[in-house]
Amino acid sequence: MKPSLVVVGSTNIDMVIKANHLPAAGETILGGDFFMNPGGKGANQAVAAQRLGGNVTLVAKTGDDIFGKQSVQLFKDEGINTDLMVVDDINPSGVALITLDKMGENTIVVASGANATLSPGDVENASDAIANATVVMMQLEIPIETVEWVASLAKSNDVRVILNPAPACELPTSLFPKISIITPNEKEAEMLSGVAITDLDSATEAARIIRAKGVETVIITLGSKGAYISAGDISELVSAPEVEAVDTTAAGDVFNGALAVALSERKSLRDATFFACYAAALSVTKFGAQASAPSRQDVLAFVG
Ligand code: ATP
Repeated sequence: MKPSLVVVGSTNIDMVIKANHLPAAGETILGGDFFMNPGGKGANQAVAAQRLGGNVTLVAKTGDDIFGKQSVQLFKDEGINTDLMVVDDINPSGVALITLDKMGENTIVVASGANATLSPGDVENASDAIANATVVMMQLEIPIETVEWVASLAKSNDVRVILNPAPACELPTSLFPKISIITPNEKEAEMLSGVAITDLDSATEAARIIRAKGVETVIITLGSKGAYISAGDISELVSAPEVEAVDTTAAGDVFNGALAVALSERKSLRDATFFACYAAALSVTKFGAQASAPSRQDVLAFVG
């Protein structure tokens, strides 16, 4: 039996309309192509991890609507365990309305819907899965009380917790000691530490401040530069392989999915971060969020 990885997080449907320009306030414009893509950080990370060989259980909440049913079917098709998904009888599934112009500029409005009501009570059914997981991974598109509840349960069962602190927000001080590994990008690391990340020295200082709050390991993702690890006496930059980037959407989600899979396989922090950098680099060579998440075979071939 493969080690189990539980992802507790959000799932959305992204509705994208391409248009010549973004509408001004009060303006109605005729757009062009329309796409509906699955998204949400929890779902993106779960899909990435499953494709990379993880044994993933996703705990997320949808509305009792067509979008929710479609999402669950997509997760099942990927091989993700959806037995602990929750349905909200009142609120709709999360959606993001995105307008994209010819220059690649966009406007995005997210209605969190059911994601915002994923409560500790909803997650209680997943207690056994969490307590018996090898790794639990979360992000911040669900209520912070739920993140903290899950982290407490995992910690009391010696289960490693990865928190991807995105989107950036202030975190309760009580949460940090319950997190094993936190994975901010540069902006999120600045928000958590007060240090603007401009180079390796500032990343080192930001990681020191975040670790002082009680997190064992900090991994700051640095876009095309790779990822900086700070843990115990490790202070190391893992460089990203050079690729031709066409779309960096969800690079962070693929990074986190890959990191979680490798850690659930008991790889070392360095090896797991290396694997995550290669997986995320491959994802930026393709368009889309979940669509760009590579397979394990592709990543192993790329590593060579
Ligand atoms: P996003 O919001 O686009 O999902 P993010 O801001 O959360 O991403 P980044 O730090 O930009 O996170 O990227 C995550 C990881 O993806 C990086 O640590 C790196 O390994 C990889 N990556 C991102 N951009 C590139 C690139 N241009 N070339 C190679 N690897 C990249």
